Amino acid sequence: MNSSNHDSKHLELKQIIMSILGNAPMGVITTNFHGSILLINETAAEILKKNTNLASFIDKNILTFFSKKSLSYQYLKGSFSKAKKEFDLDEEPFGQKFVKLNVRVIINGLLITIEDVTEQVRTKNEIKRYTKKLERQNAELEEFAYITSHDLQEPLNNIISFSNLLLKNTSNEVPPKIKEFLKIIKDSSKRMSDLIHGLLELSRIGQTQEKQTSDSNKVVESVLDSLNHQIQESKATIEYKNLPQVKIFPLEFNSLLQNLISNALKYRRAGVPPVITIDAENREKDWLFSITDNGIGIPVDQYERIFIIFQRLFAHKEIAGTGIGLAHCKKIVDLHGGEIWVNSKPNQGSTFYFNIPK
Ligand code: ADP
Repeated sequence: MNSSNHDSKHLELKQIIMSILGNAPMGVITTNFHGSILLINETAAEILKKNTNLASFIDKNILTFFSKKSLSYQYLKGSFSKAKKEFDLDEEPFGQKFVKLNVRVIINGLLITIEDVTEQVRTKNEIKRYTKKLERQNAELEEFAYITSHDLQEPLNNIISFSNLLLKNTSNEVPPKIKEFLKIIKDSSKRMSDLIHGLLELSRIGQTQEKQTSDSNKVVESVLDSLNHQIQESKATIEYKNLPQVKIFPLEFNSLLQNLISNALKYRRAGVPPVITIDAENREKDWLFSITDNGIGIPVDQYERIFIIFQRLFAHKEIAGTGIGLAHCKKIVDLHGGEIWVNSKPNQGSTFYFNIPK
């Protein structure tokens, strides 16, 4: 091949490379080891200076586009020195923008790729700000719930104990109506106290300790122990075997199972002894727990509502409860990074599912 032939091949190759680079979404620049620009595509030119006249960049020193104080400038200088350092900078301020800069050593100089990541950085910062704000508001709400419920408890205790005293000390001459009213005051105060207690508990979730690996069979055992009275009374059968080791907040996880199992006992069908199965399916990233009962069931249109605090099903009003249990469960499962939901058939039974990440 003679030399003019060689030159034209070289030119052709350069044109092909330039047309590929010209359409690349990433800025590409090559320089010699002194920083003089040998080749630049439109995207890079656009980022460095709103000037698409590519020729005007050739032979200019790349350093002149960067502020001397910037990290990019310092690093680039390092790359031109004898050390010929390669580097990656992810979110470097560049005028009003942010750029991502990668520098690699090639045969006769440097290959620099430059990307405008301003939008990504702005979005990321916005998400960060938003998350911080949400976290702060959440913490404030929890503190508010804690303080109000804590402070409400005291006057309420007074109402309960004084209505008790009054009931005890009222003689038989007192009209039965008055006695009945006193009893209503006492019962309502007790119910309010239960609700406040539930709120307090709810605001305490997740403040206790670290996650630890525990045997969920043991947790179920201890829950069943504490529910022994209800189990005997309702003649319930409870089945579970080979439940896994899980990474959990022990107190909260215990309370989760306690709520679900006690609901499965509580919402039983009249005359039908509860049969409750506790199971856990080994999935790729988590354990899917299920608690199945043969109780009164829940209509489909109520599947979501029951997880909201203080929401109870109208049909179940005669069964004692505060409507806090499942809100509690949801918060606990959230804390573990999982989800909770229900599947049910009225008059046949319900299955509550929740997953615990591995
Ligand atoms: P509580 O039991 O104190 O009312 P929960 O928050 O635990 O509060 O439950 C909310 C409502 O969901 C209950 O009032 C009941 O109507 C319904 N529910 C919960 N668990 C079951 C279940 N296993 N079977 C049928 N209904 C249930």
